[in-house]
Amino acid sequence: MSETPVRTTATPSTEVTDRTVLTVEHVSKDFPIRGGLWSRGRGTVHAVDDVTFTLDKGETLGVVGESGSGKTTLGRVIVRAHEPTSGKVQIRDHNGRMVDVTAAGASELKDARRSFHMIFQDPYSSLNPRMTVEEIVGEPLVNNLGLKGAELRKRVVETLELVGLGAQHLSRYPNAFSGGQRQRIGIARSLACRPSLIVCDEAVSALDVSIQAQILNLLKDLQRDLDLSYLFITHDLAVVEHLAHRTAVMYVGQVVETGRTEDMFGRPRHPYTEALLSAAPVPEEHRTRPTIVLKGEVANPAAPPSGCYFHPRCPYAQDVCSREAPALREVAPGHFAACHFADVLQLAGPTAPPPSPPEAALIEQASSAAAVAPVDDDAAAQE
Ligand code: SF4
Repeated sequence: MSETPVRTTATPSTEVTDRTVLTVEHVSKDFPIRGGLWSRGRGTVHAVDDVTFTLDKGETLGVVGESGSGKTTLGRVIVRAHEPTSGKVQIRDHNGRMVDVTAAGASELKDARRSFHMIFQDPYSSLNPRMTVEEIVGEPLVNNLGLKGAELRKRVVETLELVGLGAQHLSRYPNAFSGGQRQRIGIARSLACRPSLIVCDEAVSALDVSIQAQILNLLKDLQRDLDLSYLFITHDLAVVEHLAHRTAVMYVGQVVETGRTEDMFGRPRHPYTEALLSAAPVPEEHRTRPTIVLKGEVANPAAPPSGCYFHPRCPYAQDVCSREAPALREVAPGHFAACHFADVLQLAGPTAPPPSPPEAALIEQASSAAAVAPVDDDAAAQE
């Protein structure tokens, strides 16, 4: 097993302003691997590895990556469905206070839960089939706000109306609804306590494309009307482009690139992002670059490669990449990437014109420079 490389991070700022809704600071989550006769520990999976970002009121951050990138675990740590191994998550509560949900005790956490909610991928299994719509949407109002009787019903109906349903649906069970309607019920449940933050985990992936568009438009309308913040976890770059103001790309538990979505789609700075974008669905007549087929599989988070975790699959890898882990550093205003060659690679989205001058020459120059002074030394010096 290779040693886990230490990555020096010059991560995005976690400064809290009046509009900050969520801060995630150096969050990691490890899972022990158990096996054998006495279920002894056999290693550790680093599912989330030193992730830092913030999210503002009314903003959407898309979190993308292949299966196994750690994005779902990150979402679950944020809503404290998993305890983090290290790091801190703060969420603004209904009183306007930033609450450290990673350290909150049971009663503080229960109170803070009014302010955030998670929507899951599968609208079929995420709703209890034995509960009516009134019970499903009303449950958080009973548990978190203690509502009952006419007041409870009034709030449930108001919430259903926000998602295009109404009082006529109160007594029905989930199996009476289509996939899109079930996801509307799930969204209504998440909105019941009027949270400031919703974590959407592949919230439209199980739906047909036409229904996906309706749900995405609904989420956009709700964001505009209620000033909601979304952390939108997905493998689908088209969804991110449609919805997210900023995007974070994860690879083997780490954020390898983050910035404004239009900047990243216009000029990605990490080869993994470029490969993901090259596979995004665009009309063939607009495609100027072929899909980049990455060799090999996603690295094993229990035994990641040395240096840059992406180096065994990276078409631009140089010697330094297997030796030194690149820092996540700012390569343009508000745009961070963890690649030794982020400043010189002329990467592009699937519809951008081919780069000039040729990338190979630039990489060669960068490689000689890195041999003298590795790029992440700058970031290390700043820390
Ligand atoms: Fe590729 Fe090297 Fe950049 Fe990693 S550091 S993404 S291996 S070029």
